[in-house]
Amino acid sequence: MTPLRVRYARIESVVLELLAKYQSAKAPIDIVQIARGEGASIHFDSFDDKSVSGFLVREGDSADIVVNNGQSRERQRFTIAHELGHFKLHERAPVHVDTTFSVFLRSDKSSEGKYVAEIEANTFAASILMPSAMLRAEIDPASLDIEDEAVVAVLAKKYGVSRQAMTYRLQNLFAQSRET
Ligand SMILES: [Zn+2]
Repeated sequence: MTPLRVRYARIESVVLELLAKYQSAKAPIDIVQIARGEGASIHFDSFDDKSVSGFLVREGDSADIVVNNGQSRERQRFTIAHELGHFKLHERAPVHVDTTFSVFLRSDKSSEGKYVAEIEANTFAASILMPSAMLRAEIDPASLDIEDEAVVAVLAKKYGVSRQAMTYRLQNLFAQSRET
C-alpha cells in the first residue's frame, strides 16, 4: 500500500528506534551496520545505466541493497539509507529501482502527492544520517548561517553526507522555525 501523504511522525519514530537499537549516537552514522542488522545485504556494483543510484530486492524479511559505486561515497551512503527506508516503510514490488531523480527528489507541494514513497524514503534517509537531536545539540540556530558554505562543508563531512543534503536538512530543521 502506498501512503497518500508523507508520514513524517511515523518516519521519525522508526528512525529513533533504529538509532537507539544500534546505539548510533555519533556522526557519521554507520548506515551499513544498521541496514545489515535489519536484514539487508549491501552490494556495491558499477551500473551501465549511470542514472541508477541503486535498487532494493526483497525476499521476505531480508533484502539485497545494490548501490551504484560510480557515485560519490556520500551519495552511496544516502542511497543505502533511502533503500533501507523503502525496506522499513513500504511493502511493494519485490524489486524497486531508484534513479538519481528519485533518490534526490526534494519534498515540495507539487511533488508530494505523486512521489509520496520516494519522499518518505528520502525523509527517512536524511533523518537517519543527520539525526535531528545530534544536529540540535551542536548547532545554535540563532547563529547558524545556512548560506555559509564553510560551516555546511564541515557538518557535511562530519555526517558523511553531501553538502546539498546537509543544506536541505538544516533548512528543514532550523530555517522554517526561525521564520515563524
Ligand atoms: Zn526510492
